[in-house]
Amino acid sequence: MNVLSGRALLLDMDGVLCFGRQPAPGLARFLDAIAGRRYLCVTNNSTQTAAEVARRFAAMGVELPAERVLTVSEVLRDHLAATCRPDDRACVLGAGPVAAAVAEAGLPVDPARATVVVVGLDLTARLADLGPAIDALRRGARLVAANDDPVMLTEAGLLPGTGAVVAALRATVDRPTAGPVEYVGKPSVVMFRRALARLGVGADQAVVVGDSLASDIAGGAGVGAGTVLLTWGVTPPHAPLEPMPDLVLPSLDALTDAIEESDLHTGVRP
Ligand SMILES: [Mg+2]
Repeated sequence: MNVLSGRALLLDMDGVLCFGRQPAPGLARFLDAIAGRRYLCVTNNSTQTAAEVARRFAAMGVELPAERVLTVSEVLRDHLAATCRPDDRACVLGAGPVAAAVAEAGLPVDPARATVVVVGLDLTARLADLGPAIDALRRGARLVAANDDPVMLTEAGLLPGTGAVVAALRATVDRPTAGPVEYVGKPSVVMFRRALARLGVGADQAVVVGDSLASDIAGGAGVGAGTVLLTWGVTPPHAPLEPMPDLVLPSLDALTDAIEESDLHTGVRP
C-alpha cells in the first residue's frame, strides 16, 4: 500500500508528462498503467488550450484526450467572468488562450483604459510589450495572473515563467500603491477543487503528481490530497523538501512502478 493506492491522479504536465515538445521518458508505459484509473492533467501552462495540448501529445505519439486536460486558462476565464464589472477594461499579456479567456469572460481589451491587467505566459514576448501593463498598474489596475511559477521547463531548459513576468511588473510599481496579485492557477484551491469536481472524487481520494513544491505539492496538500514529487523537473533531487510530499520519486518510470505495485496490493491487477 502507498499513497497511490486506488486514488485518482491529478497530473502536472510540464516536468511530469513532458518537457516542452519532448515526451517524458516512460510516458507511453505510464499512460498504459493508469488507463483504468480516473486521472486529469492539471496544468498551469497558459500557452495552449486543452485541444492544443491533446494535439501536442498526439504529435509525440501518445493519446491524451482534451477532456483529460484542465488548463489554467479555463480557470482564468471563470475568475474574470465572476469578478469583473461591466465597465472594466483589460490589458492582456499572454498567448492565445489567455486572450481567449479574456474574450470569453466578456472583458473588452483596451490597454489605454485598462482597469485589469491579465498575465499569462507568452514565450515570444519582449520586455517592451510590458509597457501598457506598467501604465495600467500605475493607474491602479488590478493584476490577475495565471500563476506565480518563477520558471517554465521546456525542451530547451528553464525559461522565465508567469511569476517572473509578474515580478517584473511589480518591480515597476510603487509597493504601497500595488494591490495583491490575484493568482488563479496552482497552488490555488480553486483550480484543484475544479479538477476534483471534474473527476467526481474528494480530495482524500486523489493524489497530486508534480515537479514543483510550490505549486503542485503545496497546492495538493492544501486541498487535502496526497502528493507525489518527481525530482527530475524544476525541483532538483537534493532540494530541501518543504512542504514534505507523501512520496518522492526520481522519474515517471519510478512512478509507474509504484502505481503497478499499489494496483497489485489493491487487487486492481492480478
Ligand atoms: Mg511542472
